[in-house]
Amino acid sequence: MSISIDQNLLLNELETLASFSEVPPPAVTRIVFSEQDLRARRYVKELCTIASLAVREDGAGNTFARWTGTSETSAAVATGSHIDAIPNAGRYDGTVGVLGGLESIRALRRSGFQPRRSIELIIFTSEEPTRFGIGCLGSRLLAGSLDAAVDKNLRDQSGKTLNHVRREAGFGADLVQVRIPAGHYSSFVELHIEQGPILERERASIGVVTAIAAPASLRITIEGEGGHAGAVLMRDRRDALCAAAELVLAVEAAAKATGAIDTVATTGVCNAFPSAVNSVPSRVQLEIDIRDIDGDRRQHVLAEVEQAAKAICRRRGTRHELRIVNADAPGTCDPRIVEAISKACTDLKLSYKRMVSRAYHDSLFMSRIAPTGMIFIPCRAGVSHRPDEYASPDAIADGARVLAETLAKLAS
Ligand SMILES: [Zn+2]
Repeated sequence: MSISIDQNLLLNELETLASFSEVPPPAVTRIVFSEQDLRARRYVKELCTIASLAVREDGAGNTFARWTGTSETSAAVATGSHIDAIPNAGRYDGTVGVLGGLESIRALRRSGFQPRRSIELIIFTSEEPTRFGIGCLGSRLLAGSLDAAVDKNLRDQSGKTLNHVRREAGFGADLVQVRIPAGHYSSFVELHIEQGPILERERASIGVVTAIAAPASLRITIEGEGGHAGAVLMRDRRDALCAAAELVLAVEAAAKATGAIDTVATTGVCNAFPSAVNSVPSRVQLEIDIRDIDGDRRQHVLAEVEQAAKAICRRRGTRHELRIVNADAPGTCDPRIVEAISKACTDLKLSYKRMVSRAYHDSLFMSRIAPTGMIFIPCRAGVSHRPDEYASPDAIADGARVLAETLAKLAS
């Protein structure tokens, strides 16, 4: 079987998809259920129909395009990614996995391959958290990691509920029906740009993902006592920003103390009130992101941060309130799929590197209901979520080729 990727066709389709955007090129903005998102969805669905795939959609707007295998009773193999894009993003994040997935299916068809298991392309709704404040909305619902009750609870910035927005976009089915049971898919593989610099730096053509890190995010509010910067003596102060400063360093120390390269922690938001040069800060809000591929180790760092907050506030006479915004469990890729992707690289004479995904993807949630794997391709300087995001035509075609080989192995 010789699989050939139609590189020109794939690149043209990526370019057309990038044109459905609220901002001029090379930037892409495509917020879920916006007019541009709906136009992009129509375009991709049309391509799937032209490729003779059977298209269905669920109430969340997740879209499934199926190539029926010879054994209709066997669980299907799935691939896919997302087409929504954060404001002022690039054109490859997510889209390479969707259109690359489609081209790998078409390439398998052209080669004369007959899958035993059906092969399904999935376009997940709202991988980006831009509109509803939560990432991977579609895959979370699909995997049962998010309750259907969010339909009425989640709101966008204009105050519209998810229920309202999705119905307006034409997705009226009940969210309860979105969930897919474990075992429905025999495997899931996502093709994605690396969004980091490692493959380019090490001159590897393909990244074979072994684990997906997941963030825990915390919001901490520290309350001290404000006052005049001249009048309040140092010995009488309960400065909220000084307490926060100690906590920021404690977050860094807690992550470093694990000694593991995969533990990372960041305080990305620090808002001080009243934020005036001649006023002692009375209140500070911090937002902290802790990630790891080892769930227990990440929970340990989280506990250390909680301890540090208590100790610092006790010592400084400040108070604090800590809220865990989310703490998703990290995902492990299935060894059988890691092996299948590695073998596909070897067969295609492409160099590969086993690596961890430090960003999370729809694959993280798919790994809860199906054995999952991810294929990374290099992107220039590791840049992503920016208009200058770039993956070379060869890298994209290599990724699609490896995906096609892998799908063939898993669907045979
Ligand atoms: Zn993505």
